[in-house]
Amino acid sequence: STFDEMNLKPEILRGVYGSGYEAPSAIQQRAIVPITEGRDVLAQAQSGTGKTATFTISALQRIDPSLKATQALILAPTRELALQIQKVVLTIGLHLNVSVHASIGGTSTIDDIEAFKSGVQVVVGTPGRVYDMIERGAFSTKNLKMFIMDEADEMLSAGFKQQIYNVFRYLPETTQVVLLSATMPQDVLEVTAQFMTNPVRILV
Ligand code: AMP
Repeated sequence: STFDEMNLKPEILRGVYGSGYEAPSAIQQRAIVPITEGRDVLAQAQSGTGKTATFTISALQRIDPSLKATQALILAPTRELALQIQKVVLTIGLHLNVSVHASIGGTSTIDDIEAFKSGVQVVVGTPGRVYDMIERGAFSTKNLKMFIMDEADEMLSAGFKQQIYNVFRYLPETTQVVLLSATMPQDVLEVTAQFMTNPVRILV
């Protein structure tokens, strides 16, 4: 299949082709359509498979650009990975009017709170800081359409288990969950069983 056949907004296709991607990778072929249709998706995928573009394209497709509220949350195990993901969202989202904020440890809490106040539409963050923002009431999850966990195995083994469970407690019942992980240890399977509904399973 091709990107053209995925019913994506033309602005996203421009961002995809502008990123130099000509044809979708295996995970992109299998995951983008179910995610954009709102299904929960559980993908076992390593780095280098095109997983970042998979959830980025899908999140951009699901966002309502006219609604100035946080609609997609992407969690990653490290600040570096969160910043890399933010760059991909900015590049693929170049022609869409969508705001993206990185909510990560080691940065100013005040700036973080300001960004949430301004209604950032996509948040990419690390679990500790993001949960802190939710708990303080700075990050309202009310309009959250999708929750994406990248490198879930790394996040759960890095001691973020409690924060991740806490984040789940604040999600609206209807929030879509997309989980990507290189391996499927018990901790990941537990999250899947507890918080995902009839997920589409993809192994690449
Ligand atoms: P990731 O799996 O997200 O770590 O991505 C690995 C690399 O593949 C990144 O450098 C992406 O820019 C690149 N990439 C992602 N999707 C495609 C695609 N459809 N065609 C070519 N390169 C891609």
